Amino acid sequence: MQRLVFIITGQVQGVGFRPFVYRLAAEEVLTGFVLNDSKGVRIEIQGSEDRLKSFSLRLRDELPPLAAIVSLEWENMPVVEAEERFVIQASRSGAGHSVLISPDVATCPDCLQDIFAPKNRRYGYAFTNCTNCGPRFTITARIPYDRPSTSMACFPLCTDCRLEYEDPLDRRFHAQPNACPVCGPRLWLQKNEIRLAEGSEALAGLVQKLAEGGIAAVKGLGGFHLVCDAANPEAVRTLRARKKRFGKPLAVMVPDLATARSLCCVDPTEADLLSGIKRPIVLLRRKEDCPLDRELAPDTDYLGIMLPYTPLHHLILARFAALRPKRIPALVMTSGNMSSEPICLGNREALSRLTRIADLFLLHDRDILIRCDDSVVRVVDGRAILLRRARGYTPSPVFLPRSGPSVFGTGPELKATMCLTKGNQAFPSQHIGDMSNLETMEFYREMAAHLPDILQCEPKAQVRDVHPNYMTTAFAQERSHLPTMTLQHHVAHVWACIAENRIDEPCLGIALDGTGLGEDGTLWGGELFLVDPIRAQHQRIGRLARVRLPGGDQAVVEPWRIAKAFVHSLGLAPPAGRAWPWMEQYATADSIVQTMLDRGINSPISSSCGRLFDAVSALLGLCLVIDYEGQAAIRLESAQAEDDRIAYPCPLRHDEGLTILDTHEIFKCVFIDWRNEVPTGIISGRFHRGLIRGLVDWTLDGATRTGIRKVVLSGGVFQNATLARCLPTALQKRDLEPSVHTLVPPNDACISLGQAWYGICALEAEEK
Ligand code: ZN
Ligand code: ZN
Ligand code: FE
Repeated sequence: MQRLVFIITGQVQGVGFRPFVYRLAAEEVLTGFVLNDSKGVRIEIQGSEDRLKSFSLRLRDELPPLAAIVSLEWENMPVVEAEERFVIQASRSGAGHSVLISPDVATCPDCLQDIFAPKNRRYGYAFTNCTNCGPRFTITARIPYDRPSTSMACFPLCTDCRLEYEDPLDRRFHAQPNACPVCGPRLWLQKNEIRLAEGSEALAGLVQKLAEGGIAAVKGLGGFHLVCDAANPEAVRTLRARKKRFGKPLAVMVPDLATARSLCCVDPTEADLLSGIKRPIVLLRRKEDCPLDRELAPDTDYLGIMLPYTPLHHLILARFAALRPKRIPALVMTSGNMSSEPICLGNREALSRLTRIADLFLLHDRDILIRCDDSVVRVVDGRAILLRRARGYTPSPVFLPRSGPSVFGTGPELKATMCLTKGNQAFPSQHIGDMSNLETMEFYREMAAHLPDILQCEPKAQVRDVHPNYMTTAFAQERSHLPTMTLQHHVAHVWACIAENRIDEPCLGIALDGTGLGEDGTLWGGELFLVDPIRAQHQRIGRLARVRLPGGDQAVVEPWRIAKAFVHSLGLAPPAGRAWPWMEQYATADSIVQTMLDRGINSPISSSCGRLFDAVSALLGLCLVIDYEGQAAIRLESAQAEDDRIAYPCPLRHDEGLTILDTHEIFKCVFIDWRNEVPTGIISGRFHRGLIRGLVDWTLDGATRTGIRKVVLSGGVFQNATLARCLPTALQKRDLEPSVHTLVPPNDACISLGQAWYGICALEAEEK
């Protein structure tokens, strides 16, 4: 007879972990108890040696679907005489904790059965969930994760639900959001101030309106969606016009994989993502005969598709499909906000902000405590690249190479996130948005207060961008009691990739990105670094050739200005009888820009790779002015046609100790082919291939200079599937060892992670 105590940390509360332990103990005929305390889950267990051995193996091997063990410690204890049973004891609370709140999880198959079984007491009930599924992060105000700490606190359990909640063998044992039509949250349909219908009638009213081409605001899991019939081009156009979102792709929800396959090509990785518990929006290539309108994503051949992830979505889609059996059941589901504002949270907020967009509101009375957008993923060669990390992923940690003091990374200005570390775990926040308006700043403040709360961990230091005027810089300055470090934007990109790949030795770092203020006062964005994570030092060893950005930020919105800057600095002129593509629309502005370039007024110098894509796209007439970030590059990538295997030359130069990739040369080749009226698709292909070859030479040169072969790749340009696919492979072929992002997006959403990990390394280096 032996007695052991296990202390287990990780994602082990609110995920059916204790009932799982209870079942194991029963099967192995062991006695003792399990409880949640501030350190995690504590198990004391007693029985024969071989039974205990089997128990401890199964504890790790047969985990419930949402559980994840981060650490498991055990030791021997004195045997307790006359213990007869194994019990689940009440939670102990206390100071400090190391339990992770689970992300929100898509409805499980069992719950799905419940809501579609006419005899089930949850038939048609939109808030059905269990320990294997349902809301977590978005309804949790604080820890420990117990019903009173969630927005379910105001719904006392009915007798039936309480029985489930208290039965260790029930799927809903301690499922904090457990609810049913008797005791739980309710749905209603509202127009202006008038309630039109409740429950299933509200759903019927909603789908009727959608079928008629109406636009509805639907309260979901982490915020509101604006919804319309994706197969009705008129409705889609109206939504775009009202939302003031013109070209940006709109996400579409379809009821199941089969429908997704009827619209788009779905490979096995994509199918897993679509139907998995995280359920992001997955960018899928349209089929040739895809019946949905181009209007949904006019600039690309990809559609953002997701499957239902709450019972409410399943019910809406099922009813919508039943109403019009011959048409494709597909609904646009785009985040409920005007462009650039954060997603709406509360009923009143949505009613006031979305009244001019939505004809109808489907509301409910379960409060969303934390905003969380849908995540977005793209698969390249069987590898998922996150484009937006939010629902389903947050607040899962990224495991760092080692433990350190708690550091807060304030994040960038656009696509902002923040990141707080605790021990060897980093917690990047969900996507916050562009810090250009007060609403986003408010959301940022909410999260900056909430993260330390749910992690029970206060930062000891913070790291911000070098830019003096960022909102995140102002935020850091408000918290002057914290030691503050600064880190350049693109260096932070590289640090993020180092952190998630747990690289603990000097390596090269490539940042191909939009613009960010560099350490020399110019705008960086196509940089090669040597980074030493142990000493927390970096050195810039290469860059792309530079070009002026006439008008600064204005040039980012109007790529033709960058094309103009290239032709200006290279002394190029259009052939006789042809004008630059922008002359028709922007002739007046062109002469102003000409003056700016002649005199060097308000035209910062930039080595950004993103801006090179913009310039090429504009010269080819694909995109002169953007209405969402990345549009010009997306059009250029989509334009690629017919592989003629030609790659434009992109030579190297050495200057001031830097290896310079001469992207002016590649631009000149684009110009020559454009002048010779080579088809755009061919030029685009030659450009991509030339750039990739150039980048490989550039990196090899850096590797030769430093003797280092490990290289990390980061930056928004890696959202481009061609680069994301080809550059790592090409680097490998030359015996380099590339690492890429898999846990956080390569875009600016990763900055806060990079800042935080740099902060830890810098504090450690200081101590040595
Ligand atoms: Zn479930
Ligand atoms: Zn109930
Ligand atoms: Fe960036």
